[in-house]
Amino acid sequence: MKIIFLGAARTVTGSCYIIETGKTRFAVDCGMYQGAAEIEKRNWDVGVYDPAHIDFFIITHAHIDHTGLLPRMVKNGFHGPIYATEPTGDLLKILLLDSAHIQEVEAVWKNKKMQRNGKAADFSPLYTLKDAEAVGPLVMAKTYDYSFSPAPGVDVRFQDAGHILGAAIVEIFIRENGTSTKLVFSGDIGRRHQLLVEDPSIIREADFLFMESTYGNRNHRGEKDSLNELAKAIDYSYSRGEKIIIPAFAVERTQEILYSLYLLNSEGKLPKDMPVFLDSPLAIRATEIFRRYRSYLDGDTQNLLKNDDPLHLPQLEFSSTTEQSMRINEMRGSAIVISASGMANAGRIRHHLRHNLWRPGASIVFVGFQAEGTPGRRMVDGARKIRIFNEDVVIKAKIFTINGFSAHAGRDQLLEWLGHFQNKKMQIFLVHGEFAVQQQLAEAIRAKYDFAVDIPEYLEEIQLKTGAEIEAIIKHEVPEPQIDLDTTLDDLRAKIERINNIKQKIQKLSFAQKTEIQELLKEADRSIDEVDSRL
Ligand SMILES: [Zn+2]
Ligand SMILES: [Zn+2]
Repeated sequence: MKIIFLGAARTVTGSCYIIETGKTRFAVDCGMYQGAAEIEKRNWDVGVYDPAHIDFFIITHAHIDHTGLLPRMVKNGFHGPIYATEPTGDLLKILLLDSAHIQEVEAVWKNKKMQRNGKAADFSPLYTLKDAEAVGPLVMAKTYDYSFSPAPGVDVRFQDAGHILGAAIVEIFIRENGTSTKLVFSGDIGRRHQLLVEDPSIIREADFLFMESTYGNRNHRGEKDSLNELAKAIDYSYSRGEKIIIPAFAVERTQEILYSLYLLNSEGKLPKDMPVFLDSPLAIRATEIFRRYRSYLDGDTQNLLKNDDPLHLPQLEFSSTTEQSMRINEMRGSAIVISASGMANAGRIRHHLRHNLWRPGASIVFVGFQAEGTPGRRMVDGARKIRIFNEDVVIKAKIFTINGFSAHAGRDQLLEWLGHFQNKKMQIFLVHGEFAVQQQLAEAIRAKYDFAVDIPEYLEEIQLKTGAEIEAIIKHEVPEPQIDLDTTLDDLRAKIERINNIKQKIQKLSFAQKTEIQELLKEADRSIDEVDSRL
């Protein structure tokens, strides 16, 4: 049996693992790469997936970093079943339509830009709405705890991962040559005591474990602290008559924030005259799916739902249309605005940031993971200004980073979850984490347990011996693309020198022409400032 790591290898996004047995070739997850431009280029490389030869997909949960490339697979020849839990099936359909919409809008922008530059406008989106719609009919819904057999010699069982609604840990039993091997894919493992979902299931047996490591080097603060911090942000901006902007993922985080506001409201910590806007059509639809699958929520929430609705507030307003969204920015006074995307790299949130980042007294509250290369990460890391819609916006608002709302287990919870595995010869592969973080987690695991730990690289292929050992490791050394900074800097220096030499010529131009040239040079200067501010 062979496994190929196509994603989330030494990085957080792009989860996808291909498994080849003698009888079948299938994949666990099909995530999109998000973040730095160099990493996102991998989204275009369908060849390595060979979608026409994937028999079926098993999806751990609906997040785009686990599902986002499914439309591309269907477009390029995949036509088998996609197995997922019921809520995951419903959530991934709306998330993929939203993602396709973003891709299409971006393609229009890029083509317009190319036309303006006199180039052919031939950029086509990663996938279209039509491609995303083609995924839905292939989804086969399954429930937790029941096993099914998608191919000869393969049995699969979903267990509650406690991450987001419907998220699963996947147990895969493979029978080959008379022996049985068990693979466990953790998917994203939830933080215990989350507001809406159960704690992650305990798994005791595995030969090979593929475990996420997003927060492998740190722990989250407690739930009470997070709630208090949210109250502090509200108080800070309410007393200054400004807005609180919360970039939040449409699924789970938004609902958890609504639930938190409900709790603050019942403690009298949410001003009654403070409107709360849920400004994301996707989040509004996702909230409906949460109500539809009550049996997938945790016991406390199910009980509460019998008499009350923790996802509703008296002052909550939904804004579905663009006009409603724009009206929020025209409105004066304090308000809470929850909008997507959670990492501020797409969607309506960018408008709210542009209108509020520069306002002293406003708050930006980050409540989720911020991937490297995203505007959200730069703000959390202390950027003084940020570029939104080709405009520099200074940051005068107060930035709050509340990591206690995380849907991921922190380091100690990951180690504790591992402690339930009985097979001391189990081999662990760490995935879904930044490399430096993974190395720290690997150290912590080795210090505490006897398990062998490996951190696979992008495109690495590993032979798994039936039983519990790795037969041979084929390390496809994938050199990181080299970035030739020296040439770029030499080039820049030479150009500045050239312009310096023709200064006299510039001075002879008309005033209007001179101001235009000055504007262009200032633009270059701003780009260099931006480089500076990122370091
Ligand atoms: Zn996730
Ligand atoms: Zn993930």
